[in-house]
Amino acid sequence: MFITFEGIEGSGKTTQAKLLHEWLIDNGYEVILTREPGGTPAAEEIRKFILSDREEPFPEIAELMLYMAARSFHVQNLIKPALNSGTIVISDRFSDATLAYQGYGRGLSLKDISHLNSLATEGLKPDITFLIDVPVEIGMLRIEGREHDRIEKETLIFHEKVRKGYLQIASENPERIVVIDGTKRTEEIFEEIRKNIERRLKN
Ligand code: C5P
Ligand code: MG
Repeated sequence: MFITFEGIEGSGKTTQAKLLHEWLIDNGYEVILTREPGGTPAAEEIRKFILSDREEPFPEIAELMLYMAARSFHVQNLIKPALNSGTIVISDRFSDATLAYQGYGRGLSLKDISHLNSLATEGLKPDITFLIDVPVEIGMLRIEGREHDRIEKETLIFHEKVRKGYLQIASENPERIVVIDGTKRTEEIFEEIRKNIERRLKN
């Protein structure tokens, strides 16, 4: 089973991914928790490259293709082998993030991104995606204290576009994406996620 978490900065997706990972381990499942961009040594190097501040302008297309390169390493070298051996894979972000950030956020072609996504993932799609949705102001307040990467320093308008993009993607993929109100308490959100996964594991 391939499970992904999506959401804007400060949505709480990383916390929920960790809680689900722990719960699955406690219940005896083989499971790995990974993240994008990243997840393998090469992909983590690409992550550092993408997210660090730099003097030189960063072309949007270069950014897009670096995310795709990282995804290709991730799928080939970690996700697919794990799934093939029966391990549950949880990823903190995956293909939907590129549609939301580079597509809806930066305005790159959704069609091009979808095509590149299908190449980078070799057609692999999550079985279920939890989109933790919070208003941008709440997400930004939550990450206020910590050091920000290059993307987190983007404007509120950018993050607003990303949030709307995610909701649009969810409305187009209702069979796969579960939208969760991320303003609720952590435990309440996790209950919703746990129930959903428990039901699927029984079937
Ligand atoms: O999930 P996390 O916050 O660790 O992601 C790292 C950074 O990468 C974030 O700032 C996120 O906005 C950015 N990102 C992006 N486009 C993607 C995936 C992540 O701009 N496709
Ligand atoms: Mg972040």
